[in-house]
Amino acid sequence: MEETQARRRVVLVPVPAQGHITPMMQLAKTLHLKGFSITIAQTKFNYLSPSHDFTDFQFVTIPESLPESDFENLKPILFLLKLNKECQVTFKNCLSQLLLQHGNDIACVIYDEFMYFAEAAAKEFKLPNIIFSTTNATAFVCRSVFNKLYANNVLAPLKESEGQQDALVPGLQPLRYKDLPTSKFASLESIMELYRNTADKRTASSVIINTASCLESSSLSWLQRLDIPVYPIGPLHMVAPASTSLLEENKSCIEWLNKRKQSSVIFVSLGSIALMEINEVMETAFGLAASNQHYLWVIRPGSVRGSEWIESLPEEFSRMVSDRSYIVKWAPQKEVLAHPAVGGFWSHCGWNSTLESIGEGVPMICRPFSTDQKVNARYLECVWRIGIQVEGELKREVVERVVKRLMVDEEGEEMRKRAVILKEKLRASVKDGEEFVHFMKTL
Ligand code: UDP
Repeated sequence: MEETQARRRVVLVPVPAQGHITPMMQLAKTLHLKGFSITIAQTKFNYLSPSHDFTDFQFVTIPESLPESDFENLKPILFLLKLNKECQVTFKNCLSQLLLQHGNDIACVIYDEFMYFAEAAAKEFKLPNIIFSTTNATAFVCRSVFNKLYANNVLAPLKESEGQQDALVPGLQPLRYKDLPTSKFASLESIMELYRNTADKRTASSVIINTASCLESSSLSWLQRLDIPVYPIGPLHMVAPASTSLLEENKSCIEWLNKRKQSSVIFVSLGSIALMEINEVMETAFGLAASNQHYLWVIRPGSVRGSEWIESLPEEFSRMVSDRSYIVKWAPQKEVLAHPAVGGFWSHCGWNSTLESIGEGVPMICRPFSTDQKVNARYLECVWRIGIQVEGELKREVVERVVKRLMVDEEGEEMRKRAVILKEKLRASVKDGEEFVHFMKTL
């Protein structure tokens, strides 16, 4: 009994980005419900303030001296590389303070795979450590084999012409070269450096992934070749929903949705990081207007390059915004997707958005920007067959056509039916994390 009592606190280290904080907090809530005490160790960036959902949690700050400008100006991959170097030592100080405070109560450290600096500190203090992947299992497989594929020259087409980009990657079908989790905002060398680090399990006791086996059984089978246990414990938003929004949700859109017919609205939202050029916003606006469908559009402040919000957009933009549309800065996304009026989701295919959409049986239009979003989009279109990917230049005619395909055509209706079947499968597969918690108690 004493031994169990003495190993009850878990220290969790999230990446400071909405799409990573949310699943980490859902995991924290899951563990809390199972009787663990929780410490969240965050950097100052995107600091999540303790809310009513987390009153029993301890929040501590990992000291570091990176300037805010790095966070604002560096692209995510470069920022993560820098953050890991910076926190390598400072997290040790943070953890030693926590050990002074909680002693043997600390059971383990769970870190986002992109916060791999946490492993060194856990190892130094002989604490078990666990990797948490907030992206999907297939992207995890890609990251794991990335350096090997590069060394074997399999990734050569990544550096070559457009034609090669459409070829299937040997061993990773149905992914094409263009679907691999690369980014046009970082060099292949920087990506390889990051993935070399995330793929290195070091002293980790296990890997947990925010996915479900009914979505990614073959990638999860592949991961069995790792010499540590892998637990698919998602989708965590269904296991332990938590309120984690860093921006204020505009709930007035729900009133607007209440006045719309069933499955008549397309929800447009590109997550918390993606940026659009002004011309892309304008083409999207023209295309949406021409589709004659109702649409709810999240335009996040700062998400239109060169503009605070929508004030720098050409005048035609406001003329297109009619009673068929509603624009907000940030929406209660899960509530929106669960609303019966929503029949489709135009998304950048972040993994949380993908899981939230599948969880509500909403088919998607996929417009990925970078990294794992491309993997998700390919799976939505080719594996789960509940998405249509928009590739190439964004033109108003393309937007109009694809929105009609999803919202009006028979093709979209079929996708909606498949999405409902997948939703039911996913809901039936949700577990309460018991197996993983049992494993944690053995550490
Ligand atoms: N989100 C939200 N309101 C919005 C847009 C996004 O609450 O208006 C949430 C969404 O529900 C999801 C998260 O922000 O949980 C975005 O995470 P995702 O992995 O989809 O994309 P990322 O932001 O990491 O690119």
